[in-house]
Amino acid sequence: MNTEAREIWFLTGSQGLYGEDTLRQVAEQSRRIAEVLDGALPFSVVWKPVLTDAGAIRRVCLEANAADACAGVIAWMHTFSPAKMWIAGLDALRTPLLHLHTQANMALPWDSIDMDFMNLNQAAHGDREFGHIQSRIGVPRKTVAGHVEDPSVVARIGAWARAAAGRAEVGSLKLARFGDNMRDVAVTEGDKVEAQLRFGVSVNTYGVNDLVAAVDAAADAEVDALVQEYEDAYKMAPELRAGGERHDSLRYAARIELGLRGFLEAGGFGAFTTNFEDLGGLRQLPGLAVQRLMADGYGFGGEGDWKTSVLLRTLKVMSAGLEGGTSFMEDYTYHLVPGQELILGAHMLEVCPTIAAGTPSCEIHPLSIGGREDPVRLVFDAQPGPAVVVGLADMGERFRLVANEIDVVNPAEPLPNLPVARAVWQPRPDLRTSAEAWLTAGAPHHTVLSAAVGTEELADFADMLGVELLVIDADTTTRQFTKEIRWNQAYYRLAQGF
Ligand code: MN
Repeated sequence: MNTEAREIWFLTGSQGLYGEDTLRQVAEQSRRIAEVLDGALPFSVVWKPVLTDAGAIRRVCLEANAADACAGVIAWMHTFSPAKMWIAGLDALRTPLLHLHTQANMALPWDSIDMDFMNLNQAAHGDREFGHIQSRIGVPRKTVAGHVEDPSVVARIGAWARAAAGRAEVGSLKLARFGDNMRDVAVTEGDKVEAQLRFGVSVNTYGVNDLVAAVDAAADAEVDALVQEYEDAYKMAPELRAGGERHDSLRYAARIELGLRGFLEAGGFGAFTTNFEDLGGLRQLPGLAVQRLMADGYGFGGEGDWKTSVLLRTLKVMSAGLEGGTSFMEDYTYHLVPGQELILGAHMLEVCPTIAAGTPSCEIHPLSIGGREDPVRLVFDAQPGPAVVVGLADMGERFRLVANEIDVVNPAEPLPNLPVARAVWQPRPDLRTSAEAWLTAGAPHHTVLSAAVGTEELADFADMLGVELLVIDADTTTRQFTKEIRWNQAYYRLAQGF
């Protein structure tokens, strides 16, 4: 998850009218703003020479489209850049755009301001001209206004840059499915051709016995080393330790991790799915292996849920370097005591330890479904704090993202008999409104829970891809949300064209 490899290009608009001296100052000042952003964002911000004519503008937009490293473009009109010069370039631009409406100086120099200063610092109207042509053409973009020394301005640009990195990632992502979706389940289905067209991700299925061959081929010495790594990293159940009566199950879990990791690395896959109904020659449902691969940044979805796996990988990339984990999640069961309502989220095994509150314990317990040997898994409670859960549904004619802002809390009491990792949370604004809105949206029971990225990153990501995002937050009411769904249905049908 190397975000250093991603670049954001910084474009400055002007024109030839002002003369060399002014253009040199425009270049110096815009370079300084690009440097501030380069220091503040988790990506390289690359300053480009000041643009003064239509040919240069079109060329740099085409170069941005063609450059794999360029995840997004920031544009600022330092002076007045007559916007008909921008039509060809903006019409050709396919890279996410952020319009930064800023100014080199923060304070007006009241006592010294003259016409030279006025001619140099005129983004106040130059950017309005630029805003007009973007809206006239219908260019999707994020507009951010303010001085770059204001942390909230940098934070908003950062959210967009992270979304752009997520978009770049999903645009070239390869996902391996072991087996198909769980039989008869609707919400984990989806149009894989449409997903590749809309998001770029390629989703393909492999026979699970291809994976079994890799698992069986893992070398004993590698298994030894990985088992040692487990013993160092987790609180190990005594029965799983060397000499313990179930140590062989831990060794087999290590074998699954080696085989799975090797398969994914060899094929260049960033995400995968499993299905407990289709395990071929695997002796355990992969639990520990999936948890550890998620912690290393891989996307995952249970029961063949490739859409949630795509979303998890994308959010992992968007959140690189931030505090707070990101995991596959499932709404499992409720605490419905009036005034104390909570959701308990978990999965059969596969919750990512990046959201753990403490050191996970490595345990083995029976799995009531699947009909295989007992699987090894990491058990923990999630770290309390604000987070978001987000799901991706295929509505038949298009995709829909739904996000709910939540507060992860400590479980009301210990859960000594629950043998899986779990997160307990209060959905905003309250459980009733959240659940009614989520169900009305037709959103899935599998989600990605992230304590690292939030609504702003998700909204920027959805806008870049032209995908609907419905947000359930502290201000949501069921009535308003239901109307928003109706309006969106009309909007997205029209926006798609014929
Ligand atoms: Mn599930």
